[in-house]
Amino acid sequence: MTKVQKAILDILRNSRQHLSASEVYWRVKQQVPTVALGTVYRNLNQFADSGQIRRVGRADAADFFEGNTSPHDHAVCIHCGQMTDIVIPGLRGFLKEQIKGQIISVNLTLNYICPQCAEKSKE
Ligand SMILES: [Zn+2]
Ligand SMILES: [Zn+2]
Repeated sequence: MTKVQKAILDILRNSRQHLSASEVYWRVKQQVPTVALGTVYRNLNQFADSGQIRRVGRADAADFFEGNTSPHDHAVCIHCGQMTDIVIPGLRGFLKEQIKGQIISVNLTLNYICPQCAEKSKE
């Protein structure tokens, strides 16, 4: 594994955040100053395709990446764009029963206003 690949996995697994490719790039750059943006993109996509990280598609923005690969869904704040993990127990089992076919993936996104933004709008 290259230095860049190791840095990408470390960043995503340790931060527990959802980061865009350019955010990952800036963090990798702090560890490997010579890294190219294209290299970060390529590695992110490879890791996502092989299931080592998760790619989260967004209708309103570029894809996000995260190190948490266990099944979960997301709530996205419509004001600040912050993404939060949510786990709905039994969701996948429930869907399987409803649908009868084979579920390939579930991408459920809840749009909401996060507590920080709700607080700000009160001021
Ligand atoms: Zn917010
Ligand atoms: Zn997530």
